[in-house]
Amino acid sequence: MHTLVQDRPGVSSKKITSSSPVNNTSSYQIPVFITGFKQRVIRKLIWLNILIIALRLYRQPFTALKKVKALKELRNRYRNQQPLPKYIQSGKRYFVNFNTPGWPSAAFNRYAKHFLDRINNEQADSIYTLVFAITKKCGFQCEHCCEWLNLNKPETLSKEDLLLITRRFHELGISQVQLSGGEPLNRLEDIIYLLDNAPGGIDFWLYTTGYSLTPGKAVLLKNHGLTGITISLDHYIPEKHNAFRGVRDAFEKALAAIKYAREAGLVTCFSLCATKEFITEENLTNYMDLARQTRVSFIQVLEPKAVGHYAGKDVTIAVHHQKMLEHFFETFNYDPAYAQYPAIAYHGYTSRRFGCAGSGTDYVYADTDGDIHNCPFCQQKLFSAFDNSLPDLIRQMKTKGCNAFPSCSVKK
Ligand code: SF4
Repeated sequence: MHTLVQDRPGVSSKKITSSSPVNNTSSYQIPVFITGFKQRVIRKLIWLNILIIALRLYRQPFTALKKVKALKELRNRYRNQQPLPKYIQSGKRYFVNFNTPGWPSAAFNRYAKHFLDRINNEQADSIYTLVFAITKKCGFQCEHCCEWLNLNKPETLSKEDLLLITRRFHELGISQVQLSGGEPLNRLEDIIYLLDNAPGGIDFWLYTTGYSLTPGKAVLLKNHGLTGITISLDHYIPEKHNAFRGVRDAFEKALAAIKYAREAGLVTCFSLCATKEFITEENLTNYMDLARQTRVSFIQVLEPKAVGHYAGKDVTIAVHHQKMLEHFFETFNYDPAYAQYPAIAYHGYTSRRFGCAGSGTDYVYADTDGDIHNCPFCQQKLFSAFDNSLPDLIRQMKTKGCNAFPSCSVKK
């Protein structure tokens, strides 16, 4: 546990240049959970949209129908044959889960194309998410930080580099970029540049502590095209979150940030690092109650890994912890009694059953030097995003997979 020494961490040295007014965003203020008949109608429309994409792609009705049927079976297996009984509405778009671009949109269509391509073709070229660490700057001291050894060193990527890497991955099909760091809000102006100049058909998300977010910055990001914001929250008890993050008012700022983001019309998510100490039924339930009260749309659950700040420590959760998390995931996601609670994304659950979606299968991780890793936790620089053979290197990456889980396969 680290001493609480920071008062104002992660504050950018640059001034925010925009004075975007806080618009009337009342229509966005409450995430709307779509359930029941309306959700079933939207689900049918989404599948119809996917069928139209398949017909355009394959130009043969039989092939298109076969692909869509196989994709439906795959999605059902991912969800234990139980579709999520809730979607989130944000503005005019619907979010079926945290990792899927909002529908309808060009980003969703690119996402659907990726998965149709991947049916019976595991070596298909495309990927759909780039997790992109865009800055080494950070004033937090989080216990679990996987970027710990790289923090607060000189930046190596210019804003033009950020854009070039995004464009190179856009050519490989991405429909979602998760901007992380370090603390990405330290590069707010460069994020705005990226949002303004990135090619279309990508949903951008920001993964942040929320410490330096203000209502004005939230509106600025929304107005420049940011889709959503993921804010780290590792405990429902303020002192425990603050201790975990090494910052005495981290909890208060995280909750304020989620409110600013929601009011600006951004889709919101809490990210929880579920440690052995945290995983009890009482803690998980209290955490979900807090998430519901703060009207957040999604929860992302991460398992601690012995890398970065946790290197050499025994942090891997035991099987009984995994089982409890899985029960928590299934209950809050699929039991209609919890339809008004945020939907949970738990990568450990899907990776153990279906293989790792990293390693280029669905996503890759680009670090603050522009080097590509299987995922943020594998911590192995494989090649540079600037390499001229990027598509070939991604293809090779897909065949090798990662060490922690078998690679994801649509045939499983
Ligand atoms: S986990 Fe994120 S916020 Fe915490 S120290 Fe690492 S980069 Fe900073």
